[in-house]
Amino acid sequence: MTTKPAAAAVRATVHGYPRQGSDRQLKKAIERYWKGRLTADALLATAAELRADAWRQLAEAGLDEVPTGDFSLYDHVLDTSVMVGAIPERHRAAYAADPLAGYFAMARGTQEVAPLEMTKWFDTNYHYLVPELGPDTVFAADPAKQLAEFGEARALGLTARPVLVGPVTYLLLAKPAPGVAADFEPLSLLDRLLPVYAEVLADLRARGAEWVQLDEPALTQDRTPAELAAAERAYRVLGTGADRPRLLVAAYFDRLGEALPVLAKAPVDGLALDLTGPAARNLDDLAAAGGLPGKRLVAGVVDGRNVWINDLERSLATLATLLGLADRVDVAASCSLLHVPLDAAAERDIDPQILRWLAFARQKVTELVTLARGLTRGSDAIAAQLAANRADLASRAGSPITHDPAVRARAAAVVPADARRSAPYPERAAAQRARLGLPPLPTTTIGSFPQTTELRAARAELRAGRLDEAGYQERVRREIQETIAFQERAGLDVLVHGEPERNDMVQYFAERLTGYLATQHGWVQSYGTRYVRPPILAGDISRPEPMTVAWTGYAQSLTERPVKGMLTGPVTMLAWSFVRDDLPRGETARQVALALRDEVVDLEAAGSAVIQVDEPALRETLPLRAADQPAYLAWATEAFRLTTAGVRADTQIHTHMCYAEFGDILRAIDDLDADVISLEAARSHMQVARELAAAHYPREVGPGVYDIHSPRVPDPDEVVGLLRAGLAAIPAERLWVNPDCGLKTRAWPEVRDALTHLVKAAETLRGEL
Ligand code: GLN
Ligand code: ZN
Repeated sequence: MTTKPAAAAVRATVHGYPRQGSDRQLKKAIERYWKGRLTADALLATAAELRADAWRQLAEAGLDEVPTGDFSLYDHVLDTSVMVGAIPERHRAAYAADPLAGYFAMARGTQEVAPLEMTKWFDTNYHYLVPELGPDTVFAADPAKQLAEFGEARALGLTARPVLVGPVTYLLLAKPAPGVAADFEPLSLLDRLLPVYAEVLADLRARGAEWVQLDEPALTQDRTPAELAAAERAYRVLGTGADRPRLLVAAYFDRLGEALPVLAKAPVDGLALDLTGPAARNLDDLAAAGGLPGKRLVAGVVDGRNVWINDLERSLATLATLLGLADRVDVAASCSLLHVPLDAAAERDIDPQILRWLAFARQKVTELVTLARGLTRGSDAIAAQLAANRADLASRAGSPITHDPAVRARAAAVVPADARRSAPYPERAAAQRARLGLPPLPTTTIGSFPQTTELRAARAELRAGRLDEAGYQERVRREIQETIAFQERAGLDVLVHGEPERNDMVQYFAERLTGYLATQHGWVQSYGTRYVRPPILAGDISRPEPMTVAWTGYAQSLTERPVKGMLTGPVTMLAWSFVRDDLPRGETARQVALALRDEVVDLEAAGSAVIQVDEPALRETLPLRAADQPAYLAWATEAFRLTTAGVRADTQIHTHMCYAEFGDILRAIDDLDADVISLEAARSHMQVARELAAAHYPREVGPGVYDIHSPRVPDPDEVVGLLRAGLAAIPAERLWVNPDCGLKTRAWPEVRDALTHLVKAAETLRGEL
């Protein structure tokens, strides 16, 4: 197929770019500032250099318009709170005295004041700081950051487009401030917020911004008629404001659905749409709505959240269709490139053949520029790039890595019975009780024990070649010995080996499964200065050999008490990795589940009577639209059951999830058919236990009684109090005693005391039964 030149030039842009620099310079500078080793001025200078570098990179790659204001020292939603003057009361004095220190205090808290709450940015692994609003909130415009960054890009001679979190999304992401009624709706503040946005927009216009982008990803979620009406009002007001720049409203992460006609009809000048994955339905919806006559359409045809090269010919075809639907069409990534690593070319350990299938932020920008050129000048102008792209896509599609016949055949042969335990829960519970002989209120932990500096140092030495494999294994064995010995002394009932050998609960398994890739430099911001390197699900997944059996077996050899085998579940393996775009997620989940199933069966054969399969990500991967949730939950729960159903009735399967709010997945939790579930509950005073009881959850439950997010050690009385609250909801035969989550981030002295108190509390209550 050839695409003819477009009537007008097609341009390329992005909504945002990785902030950290090629060597995570931003993280390092901020952390040095926190430690007092870098001055505020030096930090701000580093930040400005990193911004300038990124813009130059984008311009040199051929982008026509660079985004500004998407940069952040911590989080762009926190920046928006600052921009609209929504500084919480408790932070105001410190912020006024020293805005930079005050900014970080809002993000991280101080000895005296609590930070803003942090939560996930839609269904990504980025976390934002939740705005705190109330009826008394007084908004006031503070456009300094936006104006300064716009000015910096202009000074480099670039065409720049400021990007702001839109007012509707900002309010929908907010929560009632402390002390404000829980039913307060931040969206009720819209009419007060709009003049502040209008002021910021006018200021940007006055500085020379032709276009300003307002991001409204919240409109890709299910929205009530009242919320859609609010969006309609917001853009009527902003769109008819005096002295305004041209407005581009951007929505990404899913299709706009009923919000599409609202925005299409609004008096704004352009829309940026996500056209990847399920959001590709925006294309038909846009055509059905009559297109965007007279407006600019920024077409997000390159996936901004994944690491795979684009199918350029397919994108060209999509773009060619779009040309007829709007006045001007630009090519963009579907969302900010914040969610992908910076540069695939920095990877030295990935097979060069596979590297050609990968596109991180820099490669995606090149794709956008190529697509824009192909549309502007006709596809002949990019014939060489198209040929190379076709060859790379073909090599990926035909590779034995992406198509392992044995894996495919096994996955295709799965029947429903494979995902069902051999006996119903009550029978299993009896068999397990007989086999394990645990006391009522059995005590256990969630898996990890402190990851000490010595352990991390040993791993670094191993990587650097200063420690050999045997020496490293010896250190891990010593750690396991100490962990087991401590647990016996403390009197815990079900022990763990402590996970000392695991760098990360996903990466450890990814490194041992065929079809998974690890990166060296693939850092992605999780929150603030925390960056993670998600592994890449590149091909069909299989397990060449057991991954945990030796360590668990070693731990079991040291004690008479049961040692719990410890695995990361298939849904979490997917959620914290980059997934394939050439296979439905449910299929990949099934492959991972079958590999883990073999591990579960091997653990059982090696003597494990208790095996835990962690699924902390089950809820966070829930699709944004309710209509898509049942299909997700169906494959997700099937994958968990497939992982765990291969064992005998008297082998006890545990699962663990790190949150306290799970109302919307209660059914799914039941569908996992695990024998025991542990959840976070200490902070909510066992709320989880009451909710599970109210829903008649029939199995055993371990609501956490030790908040591991804090260095605080609870005393035995406090744990007794929590357990009494638990017992009011769940009978003693079904109640476990455990911390909220793993102990890897805690220090040994705290852990020793806290677990000793936890056992003591369980013993006290057993005495009363
Ligand atoms: N077993 C893991 C641990 O204890 C679970 C971690 C998690 O739930 N995120 O570290
Ligand atoms: Zn957890």
